[in-house]
Amino acid sequence: MIQSRRSVFVSLVASAVLAAGVLAGGNAAASPTEETAGSPPTKVLIVLFDQMRPEYADRFYMPNFRELRDSGTNFDQAYLGYMGSETVIAHNVLMSGETPKNMGWVDEAYRDREGLLGSNTDQMYTTGELNYDQFGTLVQDKGYPKLGDYLQSAQPGKKFIVVGQKAYAVDSAAAASAHDTFDADIHVKFSSRSSSTPIAGSPDAACNATLGGRYRFPDGKNVPTYLTAFCGRYYVNSANTYGTSTAFPSWIYPLDGNRFVPGDDSAHLGGDTWVADAAMDMMENEDWSGMFVTMGGIDKAGHMWGAQNDRQSLPGSVDYQTHVQYAAENADVQLGLMLDKLEEMGELDDTLVVLTADHGATWGEEYYGKMSPGASTTSDTNWYYGPTSKPTVYNDPSPSIQPLIDTENVAFSYQSTSIQTWLLNDSRVQRNKALKVMQNLPGVIATYWHHGNKYVLNDKNPIPQSEKAWFKSTAQDIVNTMADTNGPDLVALLRDKVSYGAYGDHGGASESVQRVPMVFWSANMAEGNDTSTTFRTPDVMPTILRALGIDQTYPTDGQASSLD
Ligand SMILES: [Zn+2]
Repeated sequence: MIQSRRSVFVSLVASAVLAAGVLAGGNAAASPTEETAGSPPTKVLIVLFDQMRPEYADRFYMPNFRELRDSGTNFDQAYLGYMGSETVIAHNVLMSGETPKNMGWVDEAYRDREGLLGSNTDQMYTTGELNYDQFGTLVQDKGYPKLGDYLQSAQPGKKFIVVGQKAYAVDSAAAASAHDTFDADIHVKFSSRSSSTPIAGSPDAACNATLGGRYRFPDGKNVPTYLTAFCGRYYVNSANTYGTSTAFPSWIYPLDGNRFVPGDDSAHLGGDTWVADAAMDMMENEDWSGMFVTMGGIDKAGHMWGAQNDRQSLPGSVDYQTHVQYAAENADVQLGLMLDKLEEMGELDDTLVVLTADHGATWGEEYYGKMSPGASTTSDTNWYYGPTSKPTVYNDPSPSIQPLIDTENVAFSYQSTSIQTWLLNDSRVQRNKALKVMQNLPGVIATYWHHGNKYVLNDKNPIPQSEKAWFKSTAQDIVNTMADTNGPDLVALLRDKVSYGAYGDHGGASESVQRVPMVFWSANMAEGNDTSTTFRTPDVMPTILRALGIDQTYPTDGQASSLD
């Protein structure tokens, strides 16, 4: 597979160089503009490697990623430029070009001040549990168009497709905008888990037996029937844990079956293999203009084992598939297969390929979450304290944030590699009391409070030398991107290598969690273009429009970058 990828790219690059040379040599007066150098691609394939740090491409065997990176345009100093540095934020920043404060939700928690989601104003929700329609309501309230809108007006009738494991990633990316009835024409994610107690003799019980326990299957909108055959290829086990529920630190946030790993059942492979197989089936069977493929394998492994601090176990180990290296290398194989599929269909040289991540990662060298098995799953999660939140109440927080809880003024607190707090009473006196407590929580380097369209720095603690320059040049701007009415009243930034959520985590403003790979490739593009140009994730959507030759008609926080 890798051999075939390599030969494809050699020939594509050669023909692109040849075409440019003929134009330049044939008519000295003509400058090889985008028009003369070849028409822009009409399709875009975005492949997102959830939680991939840029160095993984070289640290691990990721030849397909490297090949596109090294022959396309690589923004090697790219970073998110916003908070929260989380899946549920990034997936819609990528689709909208907006920073969180103009997007409708800014973090893992949302305060419904205007009663958009229910009659109770000020109700707290966890955004990871919002559904497709609720994300749509928040998008429509802001009223911006998304990538799918532009693609559909440029190429009516062609489909925009989103596929990935996580409901909140896929639903937020696909959520409908105000401008037409656009929703991703097709979006595919995993269902929730099947019953642990299927009725004896039922088809559920039979499938449960086939798959070796509880299972998940393709869910979403307009899921094609070729993906949904009952108990077929796209049904996967949701019970096996591959040792992650009995080992530390993975037991804090263990696997449930083959949602994020391929698994051992060759007829029902899960993980990023499932995502790519579904994507390739749709490439082949649908008339599409855009596809957003989001692969969650690296993220799950990173949360369980400590991201860049994880070390691969030996082949044959029960936990072999559960580690970061395995996940990264498998995701790269899937990328290669998808590129081969497009090439085979004769569509690769008409496709803009974008490779990125939704955030980076760090790990809990200092870890302040609860360390018990399952502490970061379900209602016991380390990430949330929300005694009245919807749809789930979270009221069993880590003892580390007890001083904050003791203020009796917390509507919600989210803690990962930063801490955000929504207050019940935000009077000056109460706010300052809570800020003082947050300033003294372990790992905190700076605290901020929300004031209109920005955050005000309250106080700083000593910042490690290695983080000073990054903090000084980015922190304030990054925190400001949360300054919407639904956002947190208070923010505390943490030192790098401090986590409260899972053992490997992200969510804050440190360089480790903000840096992301950012690669654009198409057959017509300038070759081997490494650029240190400032590039932030909100720039992706406008840059895609520009590369496809589609006029941007609505302002975005992000700016289009040239890929030449
Ligand atoms: Zn993510």
